[in-house]
Amino acid sequence: MACDFSLQTHQGIRDLQPYQPGKPAEEVERELGLSHTIKLASNENPFGISPSVKKVLQTALDCAELYPDASGYRLKHALASKFSLSVDRITLGNGSNELLDMIARVFVTAGDEVIYSQYGFLAYPIITQSLNAKKVEVPANDWGHDLPAMLTKVTDKTKLVFLANPNNPTGTYFSCAELTSFLNQLPPHVIVVLDEAYTEYVQLDDFPNGLKLVDQYPNLVVTRSFSKAYALAGLRVGYAYANEQITDLLNRVRQAFNVNALALAGAEVALFDDAALVKAVDNNAMQLQRVCEGLNNLGIDTIPSIGNFITFVCPDNDGLGLYNRLLVRGVIVRPLANYDMAHCLRVSIGTPEQNSMFLKVLSEELGS
Ligand SMILES: *Cc1c(COP(=O)(O)O)cnc(C)c1O
Repeated sequence: MACDFSLQTHQGIRDLQPYQPGKPAEEVERELGLSHTIKLASNENPFGISPSVKKVLQTALDCAELYPDASGYRLKHALASKFSLSVDRITLGNGSNELLDMIARVFVTAGDEVIYSQYGFLAYPIITQSLNAKKVEVPANDWGHDLPAMLTKVTDKTKLVFLANPNNPTGTYFSCAELTSFLNQLPPHVIVVLDEAYTEYVQLDDFPNGLKLVDQYPNLVVTRSFSKAYALAGLRVGYAYANEQITDLLNRVRQAFNVNALALAGAEVALFDDAALVKAVDNNAMQLQRVCEGLNNLGIDTIPSIGNFITFVCPDNDGLGLYNRLLVRGVIVRPLANYDMAHCLRVSIGTPEQNSMFLKVLSEELGS
């Protein structure tokens, strides 16, 4: 009898279900024999990498035989200059997902409690469980974070709280006043991870800017990503902003070369490519509204979103059925059964043409 290696690990890992990413277009095309699919499944920037970023990537390729700058000096200084940050408080990650993992590894051990919201980003329970810590999932309020209820779940075992603003997959958000009220009431030793992966898309006055709160709240760690509005999902780069001591602790577990040379070079240029960012943000503002109205006109309920995606309730509550019907027509969206939302699907906001295609195919599938 072969050895059962699952017994060599802890219960958390034994019971873990791997994260299911959006299906890559190439895979769908290969499996279904399609040629022109549109991927609206992973909230990527539909306009792709900008010409100025492409150019610097070409240059970076010329020295890709060398290890990257382990300190990320240039990108950190670029971030500090753009957002008026202190360089000693920045940690770079292989995508912000790596940072979420690092933060938890630094502060959470088996038996500790980690709080997050129902319908919160799936990385939070996965990371928590991978450390054999206790998942404290707090029921959502209208699909969004119920911050006051989350406060009531804090115990002396609570080490960390994950918040996503806006949240994925629901697109909900909490205001600056709600966030600061939460932070003011939280015991000061509990680490708060504020995941701002979609913040660049938000255009609301009452929306908090986590970077501006780190001075005031030493237990706050803000994470951001180059994968969404900055269009670098394939390169894997994100950053965290937190007080110096937390940053130092994160740096102890960080793999020296966690961000590769192409990602460092591309992110530095993307950060200052204002035209590309404005294009993505403006398109999203118009098209989010249009897709939402398009869905509502088909009699479909939507969860109000401020991200670059929208989650909707499927007719007959059959998310997987509709997902598959769209898939064979070459439109890839995201099933949400993993989130206990099997009756919903999430669609990313694409270019105007992609959105037209999505709405057309959807209305044909619903009519047939
Ligand atoms: C996409 C996403 C991320 C970003 O992940 P990267 O590792 O930076 O690509 C983080 N948090 C949420 C909520 C997301 O949806």
